[in-house]
Amino acid sequence: MGDGFSVCLCLKHGQLRNRMGKFSLKCFGVGDGWPCADRNHAAFLYRFDKASFLVDCGEALSSSYKASGLSYDAFDRIFISHLHSDHTAGFFMFIQGLWLERRTKALPVHMPAEGIKPFRQMLEAGLIFPELLQFKMRFEALRVRRPVTTNGVRVTPFRSSHLDQLRAAFQKRHPQKFEAFCFLMEAGRLRVGHSADIGAPEDLAPLLQKPLDLLVCELAHFQPEDLFRYLNGQAIKRIVFIHVARPYWEKLGKMRQLATRMLGGIPYSFARDGEEITL
Ligand SMILES: [Zn+2]
Ligand SMILES: [Zn+2]
Repeated sequence: MGDGFSVCLCLKHGQLRNRMGKFSLKCFGVGDGWPCADRNHAAFLYRFDKASFLVDCGEALSSSYKASGLSYDAFDRIFISHLHSDHTAGFFMFIQGLWLERRTKALPVHMPAEGIKPFRQMLEAGLIFPELLQFKMRFEALRVRRPVTTNGVRVTPFRSSHLDQLRAAFQKRHPQKFEAFCFLMEAGRLRVGHSADIGAPEDLAPLLQKPLDLLVCELAHFQPEDLFRYLNGQAIKRIVFIHVARPYWEKLGKMRQLATRMLGGIPYSFARDGEEITL
């Protein structure tokens, strides 16, 4: 009887793992856009059963990736949410690292369209020529609601209003698109949302159309109360806060009290650099 019960538990556990698949999130940088003495800038490695993605390449990705001991072939694609330097400035040294550490797997890099030409030029100017690389790198423009699928794992970019105010103020003199994206990642029934930088909590709505197993959410561009109020009652199994603005980061105890009071019981944590999150 006792044995039967434990077998039953094991099976249930196995079924749960099958449903969720293997998953981990490595946080290389949880800092915001200000210079941070105690945190790296935005870079995250999402590892699913059959595909892995690097989301954003803030500095100092090259050194924190090396310190992790991970293989340089450990991810399938790079996604860059928008072109602010706290999400991109580690890119060139990281690619130099992929060259010197001899990555072999082809590397698609998905990013806002207007970044592709200057990024190519900067690689060229930095003497990282395609002929030097043992892997094929290609750039692809992110398009709203156009999913990118790798071995059945789907990443769908959604529009973020993060750069809307900047667009309104500067687009006449600086005619760019001012694109920014958040992402929904789906592997079987596992659903993970990544906010990157958003303009308002409502930007998360497309990610929350169905229940999320994990929401990785920034906390810099709005009042914490507004975000917590918006998230309360949403079908989210766990929230990890990242990109926390310095005034909030310096009062993390208060932030925790507020989150506990306002999130309606959704489990949450504030990520730190180097932390690995599993479900
Ligand atoms: Zn940012
Ligand atoms: Zn930004």
